[in-house]
Amino acid sequence: MSEKSTDVTANGIQPAGSDWRLETLAVREGIERTGYGEHSEPLFATSSFVFESAEEAARKFSGSGSAGSDEIDYLYSRFSNPTVNHFQQKLAALEGGESCIATASGMSAIFSTIVALLHQGDHIVASKSMFGSTVNLFEKILPRLGISVSWVKLCDPVAWQQAVRQETRMFFLETPTNPLTEVADIAAIAAVAKATDVHFVVDNCFCTPALQRPLELGATIVIHSATKYIDGQGRCVGGAVVGPASLLDNDLYAFMRSAGPSMSPFNAWVFSKGLETLSLRMQRHCENAAALASWLDDDPRVGHVYYPGLQSHPQHALAAQQQSGFGGIVSFELAGGQSAAWQLIDGVNILSITANLGDSRTTITHPATTTHGRMSEADRDIANVKPGLVRVSVGLEHVDDIIADIDQALK
Ligand SMILES: *Cc1c(COP(=O)(O)O)cnc(C)c1O
Repeated sequence: MSEKSTDVTANGIQPAGSDWRLETLAVREGIERTGYGEHSEPLFATSSFVFESAEEAARKFSGSGSAGSDEIDYLYSRFSNPTVNHFQQKLAALEGGESCIATASGMSAIFSTIVALLHQGDHIVASKSMFGSTVNLFEKILPRLGISVSWVKLCDPVAWQQAVRQETRMFFLETPTNPLTEVADIAAIAAVAKATDVHFVVDNCFCTPALQRPLELGATIVIHSATKYIDGQGRCVGGAVVGPASLLDNDLYAFMRSAGPSMSPFNAWVFSKGLETLSLRMQRHCENAAALASWLDDDPRVGHVYYPGLQSHPQHALAAQQQSGFGGIVSFELAGGQSAAWQLIDGVNILSITANLGDSRTTITHPATTTHGRMSEADRDIANVKPGLVRVSVGLEHVDDIIADIDQALK
């Protein structure tokens, strides 16, 4: 740690090839000061940038541009803005990726990645155990673009192998999954993806790079909904794609530039600030979730508890090896079905009834009628999202208060 400090330039810019640890990168990476010497990074609330001359404008507009590099031409904030670029550089560093492109939302990160990299006739292998809107996008919108999807069991690498066709160009998964916290073996599925030469995309929303780094395990691309833990306080909607420059700086950047699902500078500024405390927050989310999960697990009023940190979780060992923490999401079943779940949700005083997760505030959701409500009942069955399931995104309140609130609501 301290040995690196001598390498830092006077204005805090990280030198190339630095081996700063994640916590240091989250605070220091990519800071560029203006002539005013501000300490906190400025917010470039500007839609465009001015040029010295017509010749300079023409030259910069004809450049190919680049997504997350240090030497970037700023022209127009649909595709380049210093505040957004700072966020991109920081997140790329945290994930260990070459490049990052920020997007307007997590869903636009997923959609843009697919549309930028795939073509009509291409095929995706994915698991239905994922965020409801992602399943909807894959089932209802991608087929209209001529992109087909095969669904496989998340936790079975052999199934991924068997689903590969000649037209397969992408594997897509989320781990741990929303809401049941199933854990996929990233390295095993990466080996299949590599052998069959397909892009392997991992939605790292639930863990963040503080707990899991899919690129190191062989994924090609990492997706984020920055809306969740990266913001961490439920303020802004945003997303990001992290991966190799060869894919992002060409195809994805070109898509962003023309199609425009870009992140606003204000949101990027909020997310950059969020990243500074990410590691600390994730630690506390994990501690609080572990305490809540074991309390629920011991309570006879509660049915099955889903949390990768519990010994009873089917992928507990894999999660322990693949993640540096078990995450902040705990789901559990109530025997009384939807009415019992709604009764509990209506009975809480502290917890917020909202679909967001990854917030400093603990949130409680009924997935079957909200986040997964637009899925068909058959799809919900396949995903095992039962009517009695309740999802809690454990926040940063004192865990005793969270437990006490759920306890009184269960009574
Ligand atoms: C919320 C979420 C998304 C979508 O992100 P938005 O920012 O809401 O568009 C994608 N994947 C996962 C796992 C999520 O939880």
